[in-house]
Amino acid sequence: RLSGPEPRDGRRICVCVRKRPLNRQEATREDLDIVTIPSDNVVMVHESKQKVDLTRYLENQTFCFDRAFNDTASNELVYQFTAQPLVESIFRHGMATCFAYGQTGSGKTHTMGGGFSARDQECSKGIYAMVAQDVFLLLKTSAYEKLDLKVYGTFFEIYGGKVYDLLNWKKKLQVLEDGNQQIQVVGLQEQEVWCVEDMLNLVELGNSCRTSGQTSVNAHSSRSHAVFQVILKSRGKLHGKFSLVDLAGNERGADTAKANRKRQLEGAEINKSLLALKECIRALGQNKSHTPFRASKLTQVLRDSFIGQNSSTCMIATISPGMASCENTLNTLRYANRVK
Ligand code: ADP
Ligand code: MG
Repeated sequence: RLSGPEPRDGRRICVCVRKRPLNRQEATREDLDIVTIPSDNVVMVHESKQKVDLTRYLENQTFCFDRAFNDTASNELVYQFTAQPLVESIFRHGMATCFAYGQTGSGKTHTMGGGFSARDQECSKGIYAMVAQDVFLLLKTSAYEKLDLKVYGTFFEIYGGKVYDLLNWKKKLQVLEDGNQQIQVVGLQEQEVWCVEDMLNLVELGNSCRTSGQTSVNAHSSRSHAVFQVILKSRGKLHGKFSLVDLAGNERGADTAKANRKRQLEGAEINKSLLALKECIRALGQNKSHTPFRASKLTQVLRDSFIGQNSSTCMIATISPGMASCENTLNTLRYANRVK
């Protein structure tokens, strides 16, 4: 059986925050750790306008979430409280989505397990791998065995409002909406997978495709959204779907003034999509009749996860602990606070 808490009654959104440890670079710079997690659902940011000693915070900001993970939390623990409770829903015709949201370098890809490599399984095991494990575990239980389900994976990237297939050499794909308002990513590779290893091979393939040909790996991957989907089909028809989304970095380029035109356009596109995402998640929580999913490519391709009656979402907002990231950290927490 899967452990972890069930989503609260009728509530289809779970918002958690994860703080990463201060890294060596930050420690060397003597950056201060300004984030504390005093209990398992509270995050405090000690915003200091000047470098004063740690006992004299000028301002403390406190936020409450479904769960707050300290920098010692493992991927496993984070998984247990975020994506894991949603896995079973896709066996019951559900649509589940898990987002990693935060500034570049705050731990989104680390949480998702996007650095996954078959050679380095244990230390790179993130949410992709754990969802894969649980899906195949459930597939073999008596309750679901008789459904005769097949499992497929897709992996694509959204950059500058365009969709690229990470399982097919970054082929640029068209997104169409048919008469029934069904969104289709034309030609997207859906690869059937038979076991956990198959699925992880897809993740690895997609990741290598994502970062190939880039001079600076993080520079590009931080400007795009990566969507990995686990799809269940019964006799060729969609049964349930879990979308795992490693979002583009939410930082507003501090150096926008000197940023080139391409960077500015990228930033505007990212802003637009993260704004649309916020509105769509909020609509989902409030059972609103109108969901503005058309406002961005990201929300458009995830449409069925926002519209369906049987959809649930979790967000993991990742934050950096350092004073140097204070502005971005507060922005992330405010955003997460709005969607909860
Ligand atoms: P992002 O995808 O948000 O840009 P990454 O996941 O690439 O950030 O993380 C940046 C760096 O910090 C990586 O080297 C990663 O291994 C490390 N890191 C992130 N989160 C954690 C964590 N919770 N524990 C240890 N290291 C982490
Ligand atoms: Mg990343």
